[in-house]
Amino acid sequence: MPSDPGRPRDLGRVDALVLGAGPAGLGAAWELARGGARVLVVERDDGVGGLCRTHERAGFRFDQGGHRFITADRDLLDRVVAVAGDDLLLAERTSEVALLGRRFRYPLEPLDLARNLPPGLAARALGSWLAARVRARLGDRVRGRPGTKGPAEPSFEAWATRRFGRALYDLFLGPYTAKVWGVDPAALSAEWASQRISAPDLQAVLRALWARARGAPPAEAPRTFARTYLYPRLGMGQLFERIRADAEAHGARVLLGTTPVALERAGDRVAAVRLAGPDGPAIVRPELVLSTVPLPRLLGLLDGPAAEAAAAARLPFRPVRFLDVALDRTRALPTTWCYVGEGGLRAGRLQEPRRRSPGMCPPGTTSLMVELPHAPGDDVDRADDAALLARVREEVRPLGVDLDRDVRFAFSTRAPEAYPVHLRGVEAARAHALARVDAVANLRTFGRQGAFRFVFSDAALRMGLDAAAGWLAGRLPASADLARVQSAPALVEVESVVGRARR
Ligand SMILES: Cc1cc2nc3c(=O)[nH]c(=O)nc-3n(C[C@H](O)[C@H](O)[C@H](O)COP(=O)(O)OP(=O)(O)OC[C@H]3O[C@@H](n4cnc5c(N)ncnc54)[C@H](O)[C@@H]3O)c2cc1C
Repeated sequence: MPSDPGRPRDLGRVDALVLGAGPAGLGAAWELARGGARVLVVERDDGVGGLCRTHERAGFRFDQGGHRFITADRDLLDRVVAVAGDDLLLAERTSEVALLGRRFRYPLEPLDLARNLPPGLAARALGSWLAARVRARLGDRVRGRPGTKGPAEPSFEAWATRRFGRALYDLFLGPYTAKVWGVDPAALSAEWASQRISAPDLQAVLRALWARARGAPPAEAPRTFARTYLYPRLGMGQLFERIRADAEAHGARVLLGTTPVALERAGDRVAAVRLAGPDGPAIVRPELVLSTVPLPRLLGLLDGPAAEAAAAARLPFRPVRFLDVALDRTRALPTTWCYVGEGGLRAGRLQEPRRRSPGMCPPGTTSLMVELPHAPGDDVDRADDAALLARVREEVRPLGVDLDRDVRFAFSTRAPEAYPVHLRGVEAARAHALARVDAVANLRTFGRQGAFRFVFSDAALRMGLDAAAGWLAGRLPASADLARVQSAPALVEVESVVGRARR
């Protein structure tokens, strides 16, 4: 009998509906399916992996921003090696900063800075760092006295100048941060900085470098200093394709090009979720809903467009466009990736994917990937691919990167929610939003977009695994607890851990 075209397709009952098939959603679906639950995953895009997806064209593969897999989570690492071990490469980090027409090593190395910076600037950098350290120590003493307290949530500017000094901040950290996040660093919360810039201060930089110079990497090193990392042969997305395949082998279903359009409630529970997809509208009745979609969007599904707009103003995202250029030569950059320090240039980072894995392009070729953070509707957003290539070609020429010849083709991909912008006050805004979600008994939110937290893929995966394991054990964790999962700022060198995992 033909179905009624006006009525949504009934997908029936499932144990769990997972919204979003990035690392967090796939991690949850994987654990749930392996635990015997009936799982349906719905994903907006036409492929899985989220920000960790790898796009392929004519044998060239591009991540959405070059990714590397690093973790201090031994259990997570064992799972990743078990599901993708035969295709995991151990890659060596080489990165630099292009600034003032020169190249600096990254992570920043004091001796390299002293050698490469104009002498006056090098002296100012050292002087302002020392002054910042003295001020910070004095401030700590005063705050240590009863009745005195420091600011509860410092700005990124305050955090960075305290650790690195005003001169290095004005030279690199400030302009680079403003370019990537699109807001004045004084308006940004320092909350994300320990994830992104894990060296706590210049003293720690010096200590870590001294340990390395002695030929003995410290047992625990900040994330920034991890030299080796895991990388799947065919790009970061391959890891998540493997996880998807294993979840499906255990019975999970994944619907691509599909989004939730309404959560229907009965009392304090979600009773049904209406979906829109390539086969028209559908409805599903889940016991549990695990969301990894942007937190403001989930609030919109719960409370309507006004609630979504209010949340989006306090919890905004910074979009990034990625220009992917296939080249008919074998070399594009001197290192795997390069931070473009000049605040006036729109490119944030350049990457050469072949340096992570030879599987990223056909033999005898290479490629370049350019990250362009931008605002919705601005010139970078509006440009077509040809105009974007022409613009980037001009920008990178002074950096010694030649896109005037050998370009086989170029195309771009977009990440509308690449960076959760941690404005000051983010903790209160997040707590308020998570509490609203958890007022619905069978709904939880987590992941980089879902928890509105600047986390890496290992933390996103872990959030998904923990949410699923908790539910399977009859103790569904609170969204606020899941949001606290972080990529450890201190981590064991991946090489030694992988060695142990493979033994
Ligand atoms: C430039 C860049 C470089 C990075 N480098 C690294 C790195 O080197 N190492 C590392 O570990 N991490 C890195 N990360 C971070 C990593 O990509 C994220 O931590 C990880 O992808 C977060 O996983 P997630 O599942 O929480 O979110 P996402 O990956 O964003 O996945 C969310 C999914 O939900 C889907 N979705 C959104 N809205 C809807 C909707 N309404 N309906 C259905 N589906 C929806 C999205 O399409 C997406 O697939 C980087 C990120 C960026 C932007």
